[in-house]
Amino acid sequence: MRVVLTGFRGTGKTEAGRLLSRLMGLPFYDTDTCVEEMAGKGIHDIFADDGEEAFRELERSAISALPPGDAVISTGGGAVLDSRNVAALRGKAVVILLHADEKTLEKRITGSGRPRLTDMPLDEEIRHMMEARRPYYLAAADYCVDTASRNVNEVCLHIRRILSEGTILPGRRRESVRFMQDSGIDPLDAREFEEWVLGESGDQLTRFYGIAGFPCTHSRSPHLFNTLFSGLHINSYYARFQSEDFDRLMHIARGMDVRGLSVTIPFKHRVMDFLDFADEHAAAIGAANTVVFCGGSAYGFNTDWIGIREPLSDLHGEGAVVLGAGGAAAAAAYALRSLDMEVTILNRTENRAEVLARRFDCAHGPLEAFDGLSPAVVVNATSIGMHPDTRSPLRKDQLVRGMTVFDLVYTPPDTPLIRIARNAGCRTIPGTEMFARQAAAQFWYFTGIRVPLDTIRRILQ
Ligand code: NAP
Repeated sequence: MRVVLTGFRGTGKTEAGRLLSRLMGLPFYDTDTCVEEMAGKGIHDIFADDGEEAFRELERSAISALPPGDAVISTGGGAVLDSRNVAALRGKAVVILLHADEKTLEKRITGSGRPRLTDMPLDEEIRHMMEARRPYYLAAADYCVDTASRNVNEVCLHIRRILSEGTILPGRRRESVRFMQDSGIDPLDAREFEEWVLGESGDQLTRFYGIAGFPCTHSRSPHLFNTLFSGLHINSYYARFQSEDFDRLMHIARGMDVRGLSVTIPFKHRVMDFLDFADEHAAAIGAANTVVFCGGSAYGFNTDWIGIREPLSDLHGEGAVVLGAGGAAAAAAYALRSLDMEVTILNRTENRAEVLARRFDCAHGPLEAFDGLSPAVVVNATSIGMHPDTRSPLRKDQLVRGMTVFDLVYTPPDTPLIRIARNAGCRTIPGTEMFARQAAAQFWYFTGIRVPLDTIRRILQ
């Protein structure tokens, strides 16, 4: 078995790694020691003489040169900030995040002689660095183990128990299989899930992810994420958690100790009440589409706005219109405002547009008001044009050559609006682009690995 220990400094990675390797009879590698051997000097001197960037480069080389096969590996605290390190560490390995509260870390680091990373007082430095690094640590690990309330022996015994038994009780496995069989998803999907939970496809250490929504029978996310997991040799399976009953759905997901959930209609708002932590973007949008679980806590993020912002990032400061005032429109308004665009929100139900406009400091109006505006960017965040609807929210004469038209609807990929806009000489961005980009960001929150966009586009074709 290959086990990787990661976490902030002071969480006891090296001490625990050394003891665990003895307990399991496996070789032990500490990436900081590997770096020191490569450089022929101590970490302190590498930082002082050559700077952090030189250290990071050595660290990357040390990680990619680790011998394959069974081992216990402890990494430096910053190693998982680099997606390339995470991809190299995660393949065919179980990654365990050791964590501890800030006070405990402060006590352990004080007087340890480790190089300081900033000029701030230590407690402030720890708080600041933990805040900045939290998503990276959360993403990189399969399991999280608290080291504040355990001594090093207890930490290692706890890890050994996880490695031999996993974290899912047999009764909860059977309950989840019954849930899938009754959930209305394709029986073939329910059967495949059963194979991973109780059969030969998975084992006690398989980690589960999934899409939580109603309906989610046709989501492309399971195909995408499962293809990525298998290509990267990550022992995980992504399922469809479909239910109208959100509490029941979460009970099942918790029972399976899920690592991550993609959240879709109609739960993106509802899930906010369930989170222990929401990042600033999810909090501002008022919705999360990504939840990561670690050490019993649920952390929420929003990647929809990233999927809208990225393809428009060259249009900083332009005038824009958002059609619609639902969940996707909120993510769109937030994304466009983050690009300093002047935004007008138009919606069939005008008072919903007004509410959204107030939140994001935008103008608003009914859909008919489009004719009085000449925006550089139009984002369709209504469901008009979504299969089987064959209408377009705008006519050809309302579109002008050079306009950028982004249709968030992605079924079909070539919507009536996209076809009309293309004929009118507009730059068009299909909803599949948002889907691919939000999924790429979500995969990073789930695994700490950045997958090239083209790989994702290819899998989704
Ligand atoms: P939502 O919260 O239900 O909002 C739907 C919006 O569409 C509302 O503003 C609604 O107006 C409007 N609308 C619906 N039917 C209409 C009609 N016949 N005429 C005029 N307006 C109408 O849905 P959502 O989650 O925001 O999703 C909106 C669209 O974005 C969907 O097509 C969804 O598939 C797409 N989406 C795409 C991605 C992606 O990755 N590409 C991600 C998320 C969503 P009222 O307020 O008047 O009801």
